[in-house]
Amino acid sequence: MKAWRRRQDTLDNMRLIFLGPPGAGKGTVAKKVSQELGLPQISTGDMLREAAKEGVPLGRKAKEYMDRGELVPDEIIIGVLKNRIIQQDCKNGFILDGYPRTLLQAKALDAFGIPVDRVLHFHLSEKTLIERITGRLTCRNCGAIYHKKNIKPKVKGKCDACGGVLYKREDQEEQAVRKRLEVYRRQTRPLIVFYQKKGMLTTIDAEGTPEESVEKVKIALRK
Ligand code: ADP
Ligand code: ZN
Repeated sequence: MKAWRRRQDTLDNMRLIFLGPPGAGKGTVAKKVSQELGLPQISTGDMLREAAKEGVPLGRKAKEYMDRGELVPDEIIIGVLKNRIIQQDCKNGFILDGYPRTLLQAKALDAFGIPVDRVLHFHLSEKTLIERITGRLTCRNCGAIYHKKNIKPKVKGKCDACGGVLYKREDQEEQAVRKRLEVYRRQTRPLIVFYQKKGMLTTIDAEGTPEESVEKVKIALRK
């Protein structure tokens, strides 16, 4: 079964999906794993925020949904992902961070004919989730993520990596956060079973620090 699952014998050519609720630390962990393994990190959230910042029509449209904590419509995001994943730097593997988020998106990915090797599911308690998201700060310039208690920048309000200004994303306010969790439960969580059935799922305990999650991911990938 699934001959392609044995395709990779090293960690630097894997096609991975990082799946989990907002606040699981997916983005931070994906960034680190991406650097260490030399795999591009494809964050659909970052791509949409970038488009919104540029003010292109797609970005303006996406921002309306994002600010409310809703998902951007499938037909938009599937197109965005497809254009990105066919690029040269994804040839030898990638980390999908934030895609797929609906069953339709997962099926569209299958239909692209680019088989994914593993799906890492980041699991943690609801209490930890809410605490993490509401304290989150993002660098306006490079997208790096901090937390007002857990991951403080060296200089208050400034990004360690690039000196950019840290801000609280519009969708991190309490109400939008609740909405995003509800959207996750209803639309994204079914993907866990979808990938479990395909034998592709590995669950990562994401209660700990990002560094701990990075280690757990690397251990899981060597198995
Ligand atoms: P988080 O990691 O906190 O969940 P992201 O940066 O991944 O946040 O995504 C932020 C927002 O961007 C989502 O709430 C949603 O509106 C939009 N978005 C990102 N990826 C997708 C996707 N695959 N499908 C639909 N909407 C998306
Ligand atoms: Zn920065």
